[in-house]
Amino acid sequence: MWLPAAAGETREVLDPADATTLQLVSEGGAQDADAAVAAARRAFDEGDWPRTAVAERSALLRRVADLLQRDREVIALIESRDTGKTLEEGRVDVDDVTNAFRYFADVVMNESGGRVVDAGSPDVHSVVVHEPVGVCSLITPWNYPLLQASWKIAPALAAGNTFVIKPSEVTPLSTVHLIKLLVEAGLPAGVANIVTGAGLPVGQRLAEHPDVDLFSFTGGLVSGTKAGAAAVSGAKKIALELGGKNPNVVFADACATDEGFDTAVDQALNAAFIHSGQVCSAGARLIIEESVRDRFVAELARRAEKIKLGRGTEDGVECGPLVSQQQLDKVEAYVASALAEGAQLRCGGKRPEPSDVRPASGYFYAPTVLDGCHREMKVIREETFGPILTVETFATEDEAVALANDTEYGLAGAVFSGDTARARRVAARLRHGTVWINDYHPYLPQAEWGGFGKSGIGRELGPTGLDEYRESKHIYENLRPEPVRWFAG
Ligand code: NAD
Repeated sequence: MWLPAAAGETREVLDPADATTLQLVSEGGAQDADAAVAAARRAFDEGDWPRTAVAERSALLRRVADLLQRDREVIALIESRDTGKTLEEGRVDVDDVTNAFRYFADVVMNESGGRVVDAGSPDVHSVVVHEPVGVCSLITPWNYPLLQASWKIAPALAAGNTFVIKPSEVTPLSTVHLIKLLVEAGLPAGVANIVTGAGLPVGQRLAEHPDVDLFSFTGGLVSGTKAGAAAVSGAKKIALELGGKNPNVVFADACATDEGFDTAVDQALNAAFIHSGQVCSAGARLIIEESVRDRFVAELARRAEKIKLGRGTEDGVECGPLVSQQQLDKVEAYVASALAEGAQLRCGGKRPEPSDVRPASGYFYAPTVLDGCHREMKVIREETFGPILTVETFATEDEAVALANDTEYGLAGAVFSGDTARARRVAARLRHGTVWINDYHPYLPQAEWGGFGKSGIGRELGPTGLDEYRESKHIYENLRPEPVRWFAG
């Protein structure tokens, strides 16, 4: 059942490529969040879903995966128009979302049997079983709206929970579509709920609501820790997937051949500029061995300048706009502060000329390479979440590791080296949740995703990503009960 916001308010969702209105959506408030939680609570306490056989839940997830593939082009277009990313990236997202649903459909079958524990006595049967946590409130960001939603919704449903999701107010459209697919796949009423609206008040209400059992948030450090504190004060289970300031460490030996050099440059471009750098794991810090810096950065800047900007749905466009005016302002301020602190601009550093990009009214920013950066700069310490690649240099392996770990975050990082032993040694020393060797960005639904340090609490994906949504229960059965005689009387 779809309802307008209780207060009757709406919000214009904008197309970042030209700042026109894409769609009007209901602007929910605390009252709408309360109603959604009440529906999820009822569905959990009185409905069938938490008690449905695991095989049936798994089958529903598979039907959702099939529906996602049926609607692949429609959803890719929604995601591209809403976030600004290219249509091709939108398609990749839909495939990744499909894989997440299929993965959790499989893993819940493999992991549902319970674990028999050896109690040390033939007269005891002891088993640990899993049960759903309850009502989950799920908060997602604007950069990968559908993907981040799927990393929460698929395991939450696989485990038998009910949920309320609040997508980013900037990009709610693909999540609305997903909820319609869940209904079409046969999910019982009240299990999946969505409230569109702002972090304050809707997200905050979902964090603090006493009838919510689990709070899972993906977004920035500041809002995440605030929302997480509200959730923890009610002793909910919490999961936070926050930001990153991710190093891409390149050794000179990775560039020893022309092929190696070309690969490392190409991967560095991909690491920093895909989706205009609006990626939590973006390789925004290039940490490069001094001896190859000049050649590497020159080639990087030459290629970054050629990246074709434009509306994500246009053929040949390689990077879309930033998601909003606010994001554009933030990126401009980071570049200005870096230049004021002594960074050298190698390319970009401005909005493209109106004649170079269509539509000229979009929130575009040219891919930017800043050389000569160091740890005291704001642009090195903070997540810029835009098309800004900073360059720092090192002379020794120890220096490279120290620089790469010198961040309060710890989400992801990469090492490029032609020396396998060195690459593995450095990877082992990096304090980041995902480390790539001679690659950047691939992830697998089978492998846990999440961060060290202030990049978050908990993990999504992998078996741990399912466990976040399950309680463990130990059932100890005495097969030959008799008096204990602990007390003599
Ligand atoms: P954001 O923190 O501004 O917003 C994220 C979500 O939180 C939105 O839905 C927003 O409405 C909501 N929100 C804001 N304030 C809230 C509050 N007080 N209580 C509850 N909810 C609140 O983040 P964003 O700008 O949408 O997304 C970008 C951030 O997300 C970046 O920091 C990025 O690194 C992070 N991110 C992390 C991952 C990851 O896997 N670790 C993935 C994608 C994005």
